[in-house]
Amino acid sequence: MRYTITFLLLLLSAISYAQVTVNQQRMEKRIAELSQFGKDANGRGYRVAYTKGDIEGRMYFMGLMRNAGLDISIDNAGNIIGKRKGKDPLLKPIAFGSHIDMVPDGGNYDGNVGSIGALELIEILNENKIITKHPLELIIFSNEEGGTDGSAAMAGHFSEDALKLKSQSGLTIAEGIKAIGGNSDHIKAAARKKGELTAFVELHIEQGGLLEKEKLQIGVVEGIVGIEHWEVSVEGFANHAGTTPMNMRNDALLAASKFIVAVNEEITKVPGRQVGTVGKIAAMPGAFNVIPGKVNLGLEIRDLNYEKIWQLFKTIEQRAKDIEAASGTHFTFAYQNNPAKPALTDKSIQDKIVSAVKSLGFSYQYMQSGAGHDAQEMAFIAPVGMIFVPSVGGISHSPKEFTKGVDMANGVKVLLKTILAIDKQ
Ligand SMILES: [Zn+2]
Repeated sequence: MRYTITFLLLLLSAISYAQVTVNQQRMEKRIAELSQFGKDANGRGYRVAYTKGDIEGRMYFMGLMRNAGLDISIDNAGNIIGKRKGKDPLLKPIAFGSHIDMVPDGGNYDGNVGSIGALELIEILNENKIITKHPLELIIFSNEEGGTDGSAAMAGHFSEDALKLKSQSGLTIAEGIKAIGGNSDHIKAAARKKGELTAFVELHIEQGGLLEKEKLQIGVVEGIVGIEHWEVSVEGFANHAGTTPMNMRNDALLAASKFIVAVNEEITKVPGRQVGTVGKIAAMPGAFNVIPGKVNLGLEIRDLNYEKIWQLFKTIEQRAKDIEAASGTHFTFAYQNNPAKPALTDKSIQDKIVSAVKSLGFSYQYMQSGAGHDAQEMAFIAPVGMIFVPSVGGISHSPKEFTKGVDMANGVKVLLKTILAIDKQ
């Protein structure tokens, strides 16, 4: 008898899910509508955090949230939180969402797909009269592109010194937060306790080209890579480029060039998905007729494994020593202790995403995120999961950014199943 009832319940839940449809057209319409807020004089996307466009976009989105029956509040960091009651008010909320701010001249999918997708999930629950056991929270984080400020504040490690910094909008972070309805005088109150949320799940565009290249529908994110930066300076000796023989030079730029090649060799020599880049260079004094006496470089290494980043750095540092010896130059490395530590997603949420993907018959792969996300901050206070959908051409942070409607809808299907699975446990 018990088994019969369990079976019937399973059958019922299967039937109720089978009826669930994602309204792809509604999502596409909302992506288009949201893209109308925040344009620069040339008509390019400029919904940069704290600008007029950001404020208008947020108003538009809050209107949609309100129409979907969510109980909206803005926390002190300017994050928008939309609550939906669950059957058991004592359970800790399941949260999901993303951001709607963009980089200057940005695209209409980064953050927007996850935000509109999260709202689509609420619409589907409403349309199918599904009430979860857990309360739900749809969160739209503030100023993601400026450095995941809203989610960092929610995770309780936003540095108050940063409030004085000028944001891309021209306002300081403190002023910007006030402009969007937050209260930067008491930013610490935006912090939530570890364990206060059951989980946080973010749907996002991949922003890279791996899924498209492999013709896969979903990326199951294992974690968001850590990023470390070093300022590298190479000291040689500036001298006359006409009168100094080739064998009597201490050419800092030549040594720096060998170093750049060495970084590439060391990063690609070992298996894995680590990336390393020398992304900036300045040679001094910088003239046709002077051998460069000093070069400043910027070295970045990213990987999911923090130890590996440092192992790679050690091998790169050794290569610099060899170049030093051969070129009569001197390398110094100044570690920049600001970028991000790796954030791993929760294994049990990964499993639920994979089950959802399999039950929907989608193709997928596990992957890491090379870009930073709000989920990275939320990982400090809650188990997190992340679902990627393909970016056409792997293009992001560009007006050419695009994700197909069907891929957005697939992402929402996976998000919905994942949230319902978390709700069930
Ligand atoms: Zn984003």
